[in-house]
Amino acid sequence: AKDLGRSTFHFFDPVLGSAAQKSIVIESQLREAIKHKQFELHFQPQIDLASKTIFGFEALVRWNKPEEGQIPPNVFIPIAEQSGLIVEIGEWVLDEACRFISRINRKFDSQYMIAVNLSARQFKDSNITHAIKKAMVNARIKPECLDIEVTETMLMGNIEEAIAHMQDIKALGVQLSIDDFGTGYSSLSYLKRFPVNTLKVDRAFVKDIPHDTDDMAISAAIIAMAHKLKMHVIAEGVETQEQVDFLRDNHCEIGQGYLFSRPLAEKELISFIENYKI
Ligand code: C2E
Ligand code: CA
Ligand code: CA
Ligand code: CA
Repeated sequence: AKDLGRSTFHFFDPVLGSAAQKSIVIESQLREAIKHKQFELHFQPQIDLASKTIFGFEALVRWNKPEEGQIPPNVFIPIAEQSGLIVEIGEWVLDEACRFISRINRKFDSQYMIAVNLSARQFKDSNITHAIKKAMVNARIKPECLDIEVTETMLMGNIEEAIAHMQDIKALGVQLSIDDFGTGYSSLSYLKRFPVNTLKVDRAFVKDIPHDTDDMAISAAIIAMAHKLKMHVIAEGVETQEQVDFLRDNHCEIGQGYLFSRPLAEKELISFIENYKI
């Protein structure tokens, strides 16, 4: 077991043995990662499409694993979720993200938003409202500048319980968004009962604009529906000016994607803000 802990781990490598052994290895590596501060946040700008000003940033976690480089969140978040370590990692993310936006808004005398992703486990099991409140108090930020992203899938199952959790979070005064909208299985009939401010249209519906007329119809319909429900819309994965034009013509408020910027480390982000021209 000692050897196993030190060996280089390959995700889903069959020679490593059972799934149970694998998760033990990763779990201990993730514990090490927490202890040795191997996590880092990157921040992706979100742009107000009408005014072209910077609206805020989404915090996206990275794992800088010694000898292996950066492990993408799609790989380790699900494992952290299974082991429950996501709760601790997620609290670190919340804390760091709040401290980041506090520094940035002080530095630029601005009121940028910071969006933070929650995992299902954080949303359902942990005392998430307490963790959010603690992070805001520690960083001395106003609740209005924090946007909590939950996915559609997390809201399925026990709807009443999910709504109660969302109401607890909203009661803190923070914003609440539904991430990856359109890719989960939530029923539209529940949408009106969700106390959310924002829908994030998944990149899947954005990426083929302006070539796929079906995706354009779906995106336009999501935007129109969100507005009728008094929600704002953020389009994800915006990569071209044609997409911006289409989204803006359809009154989508915010765009986020490689066209504006990739997710950036804090230092790069500061120079992005300093050099940003409308
Ligand atoms: P997400 O929340 O949907 O985040 C958007 C992902 O799309 C990010 O990938 C971002 O880098 C990528 N992206 C942004 N713009 C573009 C674009 O124009 N084109 C393309 N092709 N991709 C774009 P990333 O950073 O690898 O994160 C992947 C997922 O990992 C996130 O998807 C989210 O579900 C999860 N994740 C990331 N950070 C956290 C975190 O702190 N906590 C939790 N629970 N999950 C996280
Ligand atoms: Ca997100
Ligand atoms: Ca998303
Ligand atoms: Ca997505």
